[in-house]
Amino acid sequence: PNVQESDKKEAISEKPSRIGSRILVFVRLRPMAKKEKEAGSRCCVRILNRRDVYLTEFANENDYLRLKRVRGRHFTFDASFPETTTQQEVYSTTTAELVEAVLQGRNGSVFCYGATGAGKTYTMLGTLGNPGVMVLAIKDLFTKIRQRSCDGNHVVHLSYLEVYNETVRDLLSPGRPLVLREDKQGIVAAGLTQYRAYSTDEVMALLLQGNQNRTTEPTRANETSSRSHAILQVVIEYRVRDAAMNIINRVGKLSLIDLAGSERALATDQRTLRSLEGANINRSLLALSSCINALVEGKKHIPYRNSKLTQLLKDSLGGTCNTVMIANISPSNLSFGETQNTLHWADRAKEIRTKACETNENLLPTPATETDQAKLLLELQKENR
Ligand code: ADP
Ligand code: MG
Repeated sequence: PNVQESDKKEAISEKPSRIGSRILVFVRLRPMAKKEKEAGSRCCVRILNRRDVYLTEFANENDYLRLKRVRGRHFTFDASFPETTTQQEVYSTTTAELVEAVLQGRNGSVFCYGATGAGKTYTMLGTLGNPGVMVLAIKDLFTKIRQRSCDGNHVVHLSYLEVYNETVRDLLSPGRPLVLREDKQGIVAAGLTQYRAYSTDEVMALLLQGNQNRTTEPTRANETSSRSHAILQVVIEYRVRDAAMNIINRVGKLSLIDLAGSERALATDQRTLRSLEGANINRSLLALSSCINALVEGKKHIPYRNSKLTQLLKDSLGGTCNTVMIANISPSNLSFGETQNTLHWADRAKEIRTKACETNENLLPTPATETDQAKLLLELQKENR
């Protein structure tokens, strides 16, 4: 009966992987936006060696060229993506291994974290011309299924939902809020659309349409709410025969999550509803952090019940599940505060991981030298001149 558990063990021993019961943390820097340039932005983030992120604070905006006045901070992640990184590179580095694991009947999840405008939706969903992780993962999944001999055997279902103000909504079939129920398989959203996917072609349009259904800000009618979390769940089911030729069912689930903006709710024109929304967003993000902390520290009690988001992700966060975080940041000094918060958060997530996975410490590169840092400052100054 506990087929899946043994399968998971087998999968782990089959392929010693850099993924496991630990969190991988990545940072993606987006290009400077036109609006930011027009507002006189300077670049305050630089990525070196594909791992190191340098954040520079211009102590005095008028004197930013003077080296003495510049303070810097250095962070290191599993990988850091400069602004020139393609969607495919981001996918291959962060998520491709998880797709492989999902095909072995394991669960995995990828989160995009960061302030509004930092590039989370671009990274996850992308555009028609530049599809993101969600679409590339599904494309890869179908390619891998086709490469397997028994491809007729695989069934792929998609569901796309939103958590907004602690309310769950179906993005593929918008309507009344969905109720979460606990059944044998765990927590399920009752009545959630399970879209059977046969190929990649139909998926991008479906997801773009779903994204249109995300809750919009009442004050900015066409903009997606920064308070809405979007979750795409890709479930793959197939049958295999065990050593005794019994047919067993394998199910793997990949959750791809575009989190709400991590910035604090703005204090302007916030009425009761807004502060309620803000509180709930904090609650969901906070609950997510607490769950991850508890899981990595091996605690018995994981506080999934604290928010709708963590209830929905209950089977995608623990055990032998693989978790990946992508922290999105802007290069502009106008977003310095948000970028610093995001990097601190990501850095903490990374530290938790290294504590739990001491054998993987060799993943971290040697810190950059002072000469590297000085070179970087010169480059930034040139660029900002
Ligand atoms: P978020 O979802 O975090 O609020 P978006 O993904 O909507 O932010 O990004 C804000 C803007 O920046 C969008 O117009 C998006 O197309 C653009 N953008 C974000 N990341 C990139 C990138 N890596 N390359 C090009 N444009 C990007
Ligand atoms: Mg977004």
